[in-house]
Amino acid sequence: MTQVRQPVGPRILPQLTETNQAFWTGGAGGQLMVSRCDNCERWALPPVHECPSCGGGSTPQPVSGRARVYTWTVNYQKFHPDVDPPNLIAIVVLEEQDDLRVATNLVDIEPDDVRADLPVRVEFEDHGEIFYPVFVPEEAL
Ligand SMILES: [Zn+2]
Repeated sequence: MTQVRQPVGPRILPQLTETNQAFWTGGAGGQLMVSRCDNCERWALPPVHECPSCGGGSTPQPVSGRARVYTWTVNYQKFHPDVDPPNLIAIVVLEEQDDLRVATNLVDIEPDDVRADLPVRVEFEDHGEIFYPVFVPEEAL
């Protein structure tokens, strides 16, 4: 069951477009929606209209939301008065394809507990129309 959570603070939200809308709003239905080629079936991020591999049309489809940590950095600088550091910024790889990467925040985890290949899963911060995908450890650490 995909969790929806309240934001811990303000966040700069993306402008919705026809191309990215499914990705940013799919969390309302509990699903992370990713562009998938109608022709070669490769997934693509950021969201696309046309497959970067073959040029075919692309349609948003749900992924499992399971991923592994690819790389990460910890921000200790207080860049916004309402956002308390540390902030864990990461790139995770979705399990559907080994180059399907999402830039995101890791939450519910201490910086020292993050490691490469750590299994994580998506949850969504509810910002109204936008459900912002963040990732939490698959198992309690
Ligand atoms: Zn394709």
